[in-house]
Amino acid sequence: MELACLDLEGVLIPEVWVSFAEKTGIEGLKATTRDIPDYDELMTMRLDLLDKHNLKLDDIQEVIQTLSPLEGAGDCLNWLRERFQVIILSDTFYEFAGPLMAQLGYPTLFCHKLEVDSSGKVTGYKLRQNDQKREAVKAFHKLNFRVIAAGDSYNDTNMLSEAEAGILFSPPANVIEEFPQFPVTNSYKELQAEFLKASNRELKP
Ligand SMILES: [Mg+2]
Repeated sequence: MELACLDLEGVLIPEVWVSFAEKTGIEGLKATTRDIPDYDELMTMRLDLLDKHNLKLDDIQEVIQTLSPLEGAGDCLNWLRERFQVIILSDTFYEFAGPLMAQLGYPTLFCHKLEVDSSGKVTGYKLRQNDQKREAVKAFHKLNFRVIAAGDSYNDTNMLSEAEAGILFSPPANVIEEFPQFPVTNSYKELQAEFLKASNRELKP
């Protein structure tokens, strides 16, 4: 049996924090791990900014609801689901990705959780597990699944290495350079072709 493991942001949906920053005009929320490598420092800053702008979880989700998956993402996901069991492994938060997952028909998503108090204020975050993308692939192997994984960035490379086949989708140049072992795809058509190539079954294109 084969599983397709997909990253979410940059593969099926835009970077949510960046899109949220653009929608709300809150400049500070445009920072990513490329600007602030310490994830906890980055998240603490984001939560402070949400608080400063008095944005409760409801307000945040309302804004995110106005965002859309990347063009063609839904069709590509359906194509994969017809041929593989698909699991999305993401470092986002359920509360943040939720409105976009609705637009994708609620595929299975393993990610992290925000902490929200009774007034709806986001007070913190909880990583379900460290290095969860790699750990998930290891666990799927224990369940006797063969894994083909695709992602766009650094936080996917452990997952891609752990899988039987790893595929890069629209990655930045430095990731391509650092991880030449993974095939690079730049469209859903190319991504689907790589999944067919990586599969050990005879699948219809
Ligand atoms: Mg990504």
